[in-house]
Amino acid sequence: MQHDHDIAVIGAGISGLTTAHALAAAGHDVVVLDRRNAPGGRIHTERRDGFLVEHGPNSLVSPAPGAEALIDALGLADTRIERGEAVRRRYLVRDGRAHALPLDPFGFFASGFFSLRGRLRLLGEPFIRPEPADETVTRFITRRFGRELLDYVFDPLVGGLYAGDPQQLSVAALFPHLKRLEREYGSILQGVLAARRAGRSGFDPGKRRLFSFSRGMATLPARLMETLAGRVRFGTRVEGIEPLSSGYRLKLRQGEHLATLRVRSVVVALPAYAAARALAPLSADTGAALGGIAHPPLAVVALGFRAADIAHPLDGLGVLMPKAERRGVLGMLFSSTLFAGRAPGGQVLLTAYVGGARQPELALLPREEIEALVLEEARDLLGARGMPVFSSVRYWRQGLPQPGLGHERRVEALRALEAEWPGLFVTGNYISGVSTAACIDAARGTASRAQAFLAAQRSGTASVDGARQTSSLQA
Ligand SMILES: Cc1cc2nc3c(=O)[nH]c(=O)nc-3n(C[C@H](O)[C@H](O)[C@H](O)COP(=O)(O)OP(=O)(O)OC[C@H]3O[C@@H](n4cnc5c(N)ncnc54)[C@H](O)[C@@H]3O)c2cc1C
Repeated sequence: MQHDHDIAVIGAGISGLTTAHALAAAGHDVVVLDRRNAPGGRIHTERRDGFLVEHGPNSLVSPAPGAEALIDALGLADTRIERGEAVRRRYLVRDGRAHALPLDPFGFFASGFFSLRGRLRLLGEPFIRPEPADETVTRFITRRFGRELLDYVFDPLVGGLYAGDPQQLSVAALFPHLKRLEREYGSILQGVLAARRAGRSGFDPGKRRLFSFSRGMATLPARLMETLAGRVRFGTRVEGIEPLSSGYRLKLRQGEHLATLRVRSVVVALPAYAAARALAPLSADTGAALGGIAHPPLAVVALGFRAADIAHPLDGLGVLMPKAERRGVLGMLFSSTLFAGRAPGGQVLLTAYVGGARQPELALLPREEIEALVLEEARDLLGARGMPVFSSVRYWRQGLPQPGLGHERRVEALRALEAEWPGLFVTGNYISGVSTAACIDAARGTASRAQAFLAAQRSGTASVDGARQTSSLQA
């Protein structure tokens, strides 16, 4: 059978572009399809009026060996920038005030921020019995560390990383290293101390460093695009993947036009809700399971001020708002402190995150109302005066995936689907973890599996007609 291409990658976010880059570098005939007209998916940098706004991810966290190797291989090491020198602390709201806390987690817990009772409870963690089954983040943290650590560390953290609600999320999916330490050492504190004693880098939050690029996160997809010159087709929505006797037929929509594409192999690098639709012709059950992963709406609101109009020194990463504080914003990054070049001289940039699983309705407010909400928080917590000199609002109607209990079973079902349909591969942030680095790691793994399949086909060792026989869908 004649194929239009060896392999199609659906989705030109960081997952799809990384996969396609590896496949193209290995000499495969790859085509990338994306419904939008720009690369990067969630990665979206806007430069306007001297400000640089990240509407999606604002940074990567080092060490991230896979992502850093990719950045080096793409020749981007020179454009990489590290967290600003002025970032000396983090802020957390408690009793209506932004409290300064050390960046180092050990100093953080030793600080007077936590009540004596909360700290004593923390010290009792090694005596809590392990629980092998998956649990919600809320149950795991309250069981091991007590309520105060949940309310004032993990709740704001989950709000900051996933725009999520710890009561609905799986600890095994969000914090697999914590569950692993519990399993291996019977205690997280014991596990962290043992790793430190053994000089293992492992889980050591104190060594983590944020970094980005001088021209923002969009540098990465833009450079990947250059390496894929001529292979990316924008404005092309994939509506379904159907099996052929050999390979797959993709049903495409380009504006009003419908088309098809025949490929030997296909990588689905879509958000879960879009993957659900594309995969439905191959498995209605898996499609339905993926469609069940919530993506609550999230709004990103960037406000620029004259530096003189903010009383707060903005000498940190930003400020996080625990749910218990009942505020209208999940957190606010001090973007111009975090990285150089985010605001013109004499001005500062704040980036606020609104909505998520905690308050989805707020992420849908009209622009003026959402700006007013963030401005009120900036006035109250940071002493902002006057009006912002710059503003920008980006609505993510479907924000970040929320892996709930049973998420592992969904991932297993996907792996089973891949095994059932030779040449089909699935990658993306709902499988790997949402961080950009986790998406890159997963994509590199996906590319290796796809390469192995294509190489086996070339040498004739793979079952070319391996796709399951489904007469009603047969070409
Ligand atoms: C506001 C926000 C802040 C974040 N902050 C950070 C951070 O600071 N650090 C960090 O590491 N991570 C952060 N993340 C997470 C990270 O950005 C994402 O998890 C990651 O970029 C997802 O990449 P992806 O390629 O898997 O998916 P996406 O980026 O969603 O890409 C999927 C692509 O598929 C395309 N598509 C959808 N449907 C179809 C279809 N039917 N046919 C063809 N194409 C289709 C889309 O147009 C898109 O280009 C943040 C995310 C958001 C939203």
